[in-house]
Amino acid sequence: MNSPGSESQNLLSAAIEKLHATQSPQEVLPPLSVLEHARHRLVSKLPAEGHGLAETIRHLQEDLKPAFNASSRSAKYYGFVTGGSTPIASIADNFVTACDQNVQVHLPNETVATDVEDRALSLLCELLDLNPESWPHRTFTTGATASNVVGLACGREYIIAEASAHRTDAEISVGEYGIVEAMRRAGIDKIQILTTVPHSSLSKAASILGLGRASVVTVGCEDAPHKFDMKVLRNLLEQPSSASIVAVSASEVNTGLFATMGQEEMQELRNLCDMYGAWIHVDGAFGILGRVLHKHTHESITQACAGLELADSITGDGHKLLNVPYDCGFFLSRHRNIAARVFQNPNAAYLATSNGPDSIMSPLNIGLENSRRFRALPVYASLVAYGKSGYRDMLERQIELSRGIAKFILESEDYELLPESGADKEERLGGIFIIVLFRAKDDSLNKRLVDSIKATRKIYVSGTSWNGHAACRFAVSNWQTDVAKDLPLIKEVLQSVIVSQN
Ligand SMILES: *Cc1c(COP(=O)(O)O)cnc(C)c1O
Repeated sequence: MNSPGSESQNLLSAAIEKLHATQSPQEVLPPLSVLEHARHRLVSKLPAEGHGLAETIRHLQEDLKPAFNASSRSAKYYGFVTGGSTPIASIADNFVTACDQNVQVHLPNETVATDVEDRALSLLCELLDLNPESWPHRTFTTGATASNVVGLACGREYIIAEASAHRTDAEISVGEYGIVEAMRRAGIDKIQILTTVPHSSLSKAASILGLGRASVVTVGCEDAPHKFDMKVLRNLLEQPSSASIVAVSASEVNTGLFATMGQEEMQELRNLCDMYGAWIHVDGAFGILGRVLHKHTHESITQACAGLELADSITGDGHKLLNVPYDCGFFLSRHRNIAARVFQNPNAAYLATSNGPDSIMSPLNIGLENSRRFRALPVYASLVAYGKSGYRDMLERQIELSRGIAKFILESEDYELLPESGADKEERLGGIFIIVLFRAKDDSLNKRLVDSIKATRKIYVSGTSWNGHAACRFAVSNWQTDVAKDLPLIKEVLQSVIVSQN
């Protein structure tokens, strides 16, 4: 009978080493035949007798592994904003598995895990130039989507309480009464989420939370949809019987553009929201990392990230630019009291925290999950290993490659950089963060562009649409980015698809 425990230590170590060995860096995508093969070999019924360790390792190694894409291993992968995993983060992630540590309750006399988690989050604040003391509600999530859910949940709690403050001294809590009753007591008949070019997950979060996808309203400028039309925003905020969350896209996933352009704009937004009891949530899944850059080298990006500390809450992704393995996002909020009102596990004596002199809140009372993975450790390890300058260096290389691609496109007769803009070349390049959106000028090539690029099997890009037409998108988000090696290859591929078209 096969059951865990009978394996030899040598077999285990050898297996782990082998599974970690990298795939050929040339292969960005597995060939279709390999995918077919793998699908064919998937075990289709639960085995009555297990196959055992040796055979299962062979199955993972030989049948399945070649059929996974190399997004986390290859720097030639520019699809979506996938990120990679720094070497130390990968090691720490294995450590997490080995320790099988739960970070549900803060138990300072039993484990240091929740201390590590809280420290990882405060180091993260420092990385992002945010004062950890100003962001006492901080937690890790599975990703930016979950973090947006947490953000809107906190915002919902806050704006209803604000709206009712002038009617009653009682605390009107959505967490306590539910949304219908809380809105009734607060005299609110509409909750709106006002934003510009939101990520799709914001609508998903609105749906999950009972606010509804229809509550997400874009208030972008006509000529610059990523920027707030302050007049429209003000008109909506001041509608009677409504309560609002303002969601700032920093940066926007299609173009990489930021919703605000500096301290003054954010301050204006803050003042307006304070006037109407609105909550400001920043979706900075990848854009928030722009705060590690130096002003004198990346003025436009640092400008766009300035003032984000005036928000009430911030979403960030670990598995994007932070380059830790998947299953890691983070959430920061300035409102410690809101956290417990939304997430507190009531009446669970067996989960009681031993309240020490430290101020670490039990993760289960400030986030979505109870039991969960110790996803803080890879973040902690990577921040300790590379520090602020290491992260700045990674991001600078990614930006340099993105701008190299954008420059090539701007100078090409066959391609067009998006969004269209009247600004001069230097200004456009200076605004490029890690996303390059473009299209082929020739319509028929443009329709096939993404497939043609992927068919070279040298680089991977993802498709999107812009103003109703097909468009192509590079997202550079891997620590392995090497401009001297990657840029010539990208240019060669972009040129080759033009040549083969003619
Ligand atoms: C990627 C992304 C998300 C969703 O993140 P997940 O980690 O996939 O849940 C949300 N907002 C923005 C701006 C993003 O780029």
